[in-house]
Amino acid sequence: MKHIDLVIVGGGPAGLAAAIAAREAGCENLLVIERERVLGGILNQCIHNGFGLHTFKEELTGPEYAQRFIDKAVALDISVMTDSMVLSITDKRVVTVVNSQEGLFEIQAGAIVLAMGCRERSRGALNIPGHRPAGVYAAGTAQRLVNMEGYLPGRNVVILGSGDIGLIMARRMTLEGAKVHVVAELMPFSGGLKRNIVQCLDDFGIPLELSTTVVDIHGKDRLTGVTLAKVDDKMRPIAGTEMYYQCDTLLLSVGLVPENELSLGAGIALSPVHNGPIVTDQLATNVAGIFACGNVLHVHDLVDFVSQEAAQAGQHAVAYLQGAVAGETTVPLVAKGGVRYTVPATICPQTMTEDVTVRFRVGQVYQKAAIAVYAGERLLSRRKKKIMTPGEMEEVVLKKADLQGATAVTITIEQEKEGTA
Ligand SMILES: Cc1cc2nc3c(=O)[nH]c(=O)nc-3n(C[C@H](O)[C@H](O)[C@H](O)COP(=O)(O)OP(=O)(O)OC[C@H]3O[C@@H](n4cnc5c(N)ncnc54)[C@H](O)[C@@H]3O)c2cc1C
Repeated sequence: MKHIDLVIVGGGPAGLAAAIAAREAGCENLLVIERERVLGGILNQCIHNGFGLHTFKEELTGPEYAQRFIDKAVALDISVMTDSMVLSITDKRVVTVVNSQEGLFEIQAGAIVLAMGCRERSRGALNIPGHRPAGVYAAGTAQRLVNMEGYLPGRNVVILGSGDIGLIMARRMTLEGAKVHVVAELMPFSGGLKRNIVQCLDDFGIPLELSTTVVDIHGKDRLTGVTLAKVDDKMRPIAGTEMYYQCDTLLLSVGLVPENELSLGAGIALSPVHNGPIVTDQLATNVAGIFACGNVLHVHDLVDFVSQEAAQAGQHAVAYLQGAVAGETTVPLVAKGGVRYTVPATICPQTMTEDVTVRFRVGQVYQKAAIAVYAGERLLSRRKKKIMTPGEMEEVVLKKADLQGATAVTITIEQEKEGTA
């Protein structure tokens, strides 16, 4: 069996940033394994601009952003194995890979960084009644068909779900000559970035119907229409609010789920909230030597944060290979009062870096509220925010100096009193 010091699974932005940081931290023997023919991950199909504002202070397209990292990986002579699928990982870090050149083979890894990204929830996860006609697509599949394969999935479109992929595809389909009648969203707020609502819906006059879902799908061989209805506060359709839309295409943008199969097979504990591995401040999972970053860890809003987080995962993996051990004290990060989860989930005040960025999402829209951080009863920081929405990630920075002696750190949302914000 081949031995490789650091194996990185996935050659998207997370895998590339982890590999570059690991090489720069001194790891000579590392390998990126990618199942697609080319590196770059989901960015290859995201031909719109808006990537890299934080990292490069420029608005790049997805492929342009990915290319900057690919060029760097090439310059650093990082080994890459494309067209190769990782089938399993054991808790002893044995990686089973298959490709058409070498067939099935195993690698013993000294450390592993998981960077497999996420996948879209499909119609099967939604329980929408009706036949199964052609014309119902996951929005990301439609994005790939339009942007990479050169096919237009349909001409009269309804989109269910207002996450970023749904919003981006509303604009894309319009630019390609299709009529997008409406974007329907089950929740009373959009799951996407505000800038995407403005640039992809408002600028094109596409209506967004909140608290609305698909209650029926019409057509047998090909979709002929959908029925939408308003929902109540328990998400139940309200009788009498049905609206029929004639359409040949329904795009589903109803959430992304981290690619968990390899993690589960390795015995990695997953969060029931963000569905990715539960990690420490070193982005280490509960299985020794296995680290996680990017969308496989939790679904990010901006790729810049993926790259930052992944670089840290690469550095921590190299530190592990060089014999660094996490301290024994583990302080839990408690998500409260509207904070749904935190990444990382725990922190070690002895061995943490000087600053640790904690990322999370809130569960509802907050206006004039503050993010408060407590170590026990002691207030560490309180930052006012005009608005917070579930579609945008929030972050706080924890400082090593503040955490000595802490037994728990709580991150919570506090509503500002009238007139204080
Ligand atoms: C439609 C859409 C629009 C977006 N728009 C923006 C935007 O405007 N601005 C912005 O900043 N961000 C945007 N994003 C987010 C950004 O693209 C993601 O945050 C980023 O791509 C996540 O990087 P990743 O490396 O974690 O995952 P991915 O890019 O998904 O990469 C994961 C890689 O792992 C590979 N892989 C998975 N399993 C295996 C396996 N078993 N073996 C080998 N390889 C494997 C996959 O093939 C893939 O290449 C958008 C995302 C989407 C989907």
